[in-house]
Amino acid sequence: MSIPFVSQEGGCKVCGRGVEGYEGEYVCEKCRERAPFFDVAVGAVDFAGEMRETVLRYKDAKALWLTEDFADWMEAAGRSRIDVSLADIVLPVPSTLMRRIDRGVNPAVCLAQALARRIGRSFRGDVLRRVGAPKKQANLSEDERWENAEDSFAVIRPEFVKGRTILLVDDIQTTGATLSGCAKALKMAGAWRVWCISLARAVWNS
Ligand SMILES: [Zn+2]
Repeated sequence: MSIPFVSQEGGCKVCGRGVEGYEGEYVCEKCRERAPFFDVAVGAVDFAGEMRETVLRYKDAKALWLTEDFADWMEAAGRSRIDVSLADIVLPVPSTLMRRIDRGVNPAVCLAQALARRIGRSFRGDVLRRVGAPKKQANLSEDERWENAEDSFAVIRPEFVKGRTILLVDDIQTTGATLSGCAKALKMAGAWRVWCISLARAVWNS
């Protein structure tokens, strides 16, 4: 299988989305319309084709042996857009309680731990948590996803966040709403910068 790495050349400096006709540094229309709370979001591979199946298996904790390879790709993608050595702490996007019970393992935690080891930063899994009744993001429209995600997260250990640069790790980035929801909670708790690295990024049509 050839690996569908995301091109890290150009694109929106916030979300990485490429827009035809644009070159150099710009912020895309979507990010201007609804500015995400994160500063940068980077995806390593496109969530498409065979890779989509592989990533879904990984998300269901059925392919955890791929963690180190995936962390390798995420590190490379991250380094091409941000100076990861300036991150103070690495946090995973928390999974819903139901999903945790289902699988006993959160792949975003595995990826965040592996990435933290590689870049020599500390990992913490107890800083962010979900609040409220979880809704499945997959069943919602894009607007509903953003609204739902905005108030779905809370920081329970603000002492690790205040004034810091946070590296936030997730397995799959679709609209960016979940990352933005986490980033909102982190910024409200005093985080200086929130940089996001996802394993797979949904392929955008616009
Ligand atoms: Zn953008």
